[in-house]
Amino acid sequence: MQLVFATHNPNKLREVQALMPKHIQLLGLTDIGCTEEIPETAKTIQGNAQLKVDHVTQHYGHDCFADDTGLEVNALNKAPGVYSARYAGPQKNSDDNMQKLLHELDDQKDRSAQFKTVIALNLNGQQHFFEGIARGTILYQKRGDQGFGYDPIFQPLGYEHTFAELSMQEKNQLAHRGIAVRKLIAFLESL
Ligand code: IMP
Repeated sequence: MQLVFATHNPNKLREVQALMPKHIQLLGLTDIGCTEEIPETAKTIQGNAQLKVDHVTQHYGHDCFADDTGLEVNALNKAPGVYSARYAGPQKNSDDNMQKLLHELDDQKDRSAQFKTVIALNLNGQQHFFEGIARGTILYQKRGDQGFGYDPIFQPLGYEHTFAELSMQEKNQLAHRGIAVRKLIAFLESL
């Protein structure tokens, strides 16, 4: 079975493909000829996932799933949240985003945070949602060079390594997207 994953990000495509059962082959947006940026203008993480999946189904006619993720920092009233990608500006630069977050948390003792992923799935004319949450702490400086985004400054609860110090397999086991993707897979396998 082929299923479109609405992402332009090759890291995410690889991460999620690694979790899928062998009979599900994922296609990225490039594979279906979708080169445009899909607008992510919703006010919630779930709303953005829905926008992406509906764009693909409406314009390309494919069944498809899309994820949207935000980093919610408690001391910042859940910011950057839905704005995580563009936190430091439209250039969507991870180093700039981390630098801004570390600056905002400069004198903060409460450094608790969570990554939240919502996956929207359009399948056979119906829409479904799956959620995954990973709780942890924002460190004072970056550690590790694996992964992407805010991984170097996020240490998951109960671990002494950041997401950027874990292998892709280790991160998938405990991270938000892995949790949501496993719920998606359980659903697909139950059909
Ligand atoms: P998106 O919704 O997956 O595009 O992610 C929004 C923002 O959160 C981007 O800046 C990503 O870099 C960041 N992000 C998403 N997933 C992760 C992750 O697993 N680790 C670190 N940052 C992430």
